[in-house]
Amino acid sequence: MPTSPTSAPDLAEPGTGPGRHPAHHLLTAGLAWLYDTEQPDGAILQHHGAHLGTHGNRRYSVTPTGAVDLPVLVVDIADPDFDFQRQAPRNVLAPGELAVLAAALTRLGAEVRTTWNGTGITGSVGLRRPAHPTLVAAVDRYRARCPTHHSVFCGREQACTWYATGNALITRPTPENPS
Ligand SMILES: [Zn+2]
Repeated sequence: MPTSPTSAPDLAEPGTGPGRHPAHHLLTAGLAWLYDTEQPDGAILQHHGAHLGTHGNRRYSVTPTGAVDLPVLVVDIADPDFDFQRQAPRNVLAPGELAVLAAALTRLGAEVRTTWNGTGITGSVGLRRPAHPTLVAAVDRYRARCPTHHSVFCGREQACTWYATGNALITRPTPENPS
């Protein structure tokens, strides 16, 4: 069992309980990847970044150069339950959940710049410190497009291995199992 004081109901609603964030293992892996992981020369990463994993029907991902070219950590409802009669999702982020996530990131050493969304099925935490330069370079390679086809979308249709080869070089986030 976790050593954190988080109780079972809190685990069902990430980010609403006291103490360690229920997705602590994903957040630490995300920050380590963002700031401390050197990416090899030639690595290519699409601009949405990487998924960190899911926990308690929340999916966490991190974008190295999201808003104003700074990192963004995003939490989404992993499996939204859409009510077609009301034209709205039945499950949304809990009130205050995004603030709790931002506070958890701050405790882990990240500098939170701002947050946005957070009342529906998605919320974002914008960070102040730029991502590791080699990670930024990997996204820049993506944005520079395939040198042969001048597109970011080339792949099987063009028999192009530009993205697949470059992306295979990326060192990915490695969350440990929650413990
Ligand atoms: Zn190409």
